[in-house]
Amino acid sequence: MANQSQYIEPAPIKDKENPFESMMSRFNDAANILGLDDETYEVLKRPHRQVIVSLPVTMDNGKIKVFEGYRVIHSNILGPAKGGIRYDLGVNLDEVKALAAWMTWKCAVVDIPYGGGKGGIICDPRSMSAGELERLTRAYTSALVDVFGPDKDIPAPDMGTGQREMAWLMDEYSKAQGKTEPAVVTGKPLVLGGSLGRTEATGRGVMVTALAAMEKLKLNPAKSTCAVQGFGNVGSHAAILMEERGSKICGISDHTAAYWNDKGIDIQKAIEYKNKNNGILQGFDGGDLITNAELLEAKVDVLIPAAKEDVITQENAAKIRAKLIVEGANGPTSAKADSTLYNNDVSVVPDILANAGGVTVSYFEWVQNRIGYKWPLDRINRRTDRAMKDAFERVYKTAQKHNISLRLAAYVVAIAKVAETYKYRGGY
Ligand code: GLU
Repeated sequence: MANQSQYIEPAPIKDKENPFESMMSRFNDAANILGLDDETYEVLKRPHRQVIVSLPVTMDNGKIKVFEGYRVIHSNILGPAKGGIRYDLGVNLDEVKALAAWMTWKCAVVDIPYGGGKGGIICDPRSMSAGELERLTRAYTSALVDVFGPDKDIPAPDMGTGQREMAWLMDEYSKAQGKTEPAVVTGKPLVLGGSLGRTEATGRGVMVTALAAMEKLKLNPAKSTCAVQGFGNVGSHAAILMEERGSKICGISDHTAAYWNDKGIDIQKAIEYKNKNNGILQGFDGGDLITNAELLEAKVDVLIPAAKEDVITQENAAKIRAKLIVEGANGPTSAKADSTLYNNDVSVVPDILANAGGVTVSYFEWVQNRIGYKWPLDRINRRTDRAMKDAFERVYKTAQKHNISLRLAAYVVAIAKVAETYKYRGGY
């Protein structure tokens, strides 16, 4: 049997700037500003629940491969846990814990009635067939069927997953309940109870908060330049929406290549190229090939990191020349880079605010599933834009009041809300 199965080792945790420590360092700073009492601090700093599952999956070659999966519920104080599922070789428990906590703060910042959770499986989805991914997703759902639930923990897509995986998850969960349960997961295909506007929602929120911040900085969107790192769902939608508002997108990149064009890249053309080219940008002829470092350090008004954690670190923070960073990804800036950016007058719309458009429309999807009614796109966009603008203003005012960065202010807003709710609910 031994040679029939293969165990995939969890990736080693980068000890340099691990995302959980980055999250905790901001949490500690915000807790100090708020004067959070020790008891609440102790409650909020620990994940409520951490589940590790082992998933034996029959691969197309007939052999069994055992995958490791995680689901972490950081908090359910504001409501059922909410957060995506990531398929990536770099997934590890510390990363999932950080991402789960970020979901808690994100939902609190945009004022939706959810706690925070996150899941992940160590796998390389690009090298797996649709059948293998379906069996893996169903195995994961089945292993966590008692954790998930429309009133308990509601997953959604994240890096490496999308509508297709959410459909399998919904189906597998529904089978176990003996009834169709669309509200157990968001980011579903439209025909299965998905919401209009969900796919582009995170990119839309990035655009709305970027414009709100540009107004404060007196940057005219129609005369602005922009670079977008990461060209997946978030980056490509943010790029096209910024382009529609007049911004010149001079640089784009994905994990295979980065391109630059002084005159502005034709984003629609880049999306079409990517869609025809197995989902990757490599070989795109709408700009000159540059390095990922050159893209991040380019002289632009707005930089949108929209890939993954720790791309702006203490190593390159001093070289960032953008006036404004709008974090489409979760955790793209490490905690150690924060002060350099702040001292260099680089404004940052932090992840827990900038990319909250996705979970906001997830909330609308869940509401629609529960009332059994479908909202038109203009209603969803209007409500998302309003939620994002209101959240931006709350964070901006808090930053002004305490003379702190928008990042710290977003944590202050979020932690204050969760702490107040906890006070009312109480513990044991
Ligand atoms: N994975 C997305 C995020 O990090 C969406 C989460 C959701 O919609 O629940 O915000």
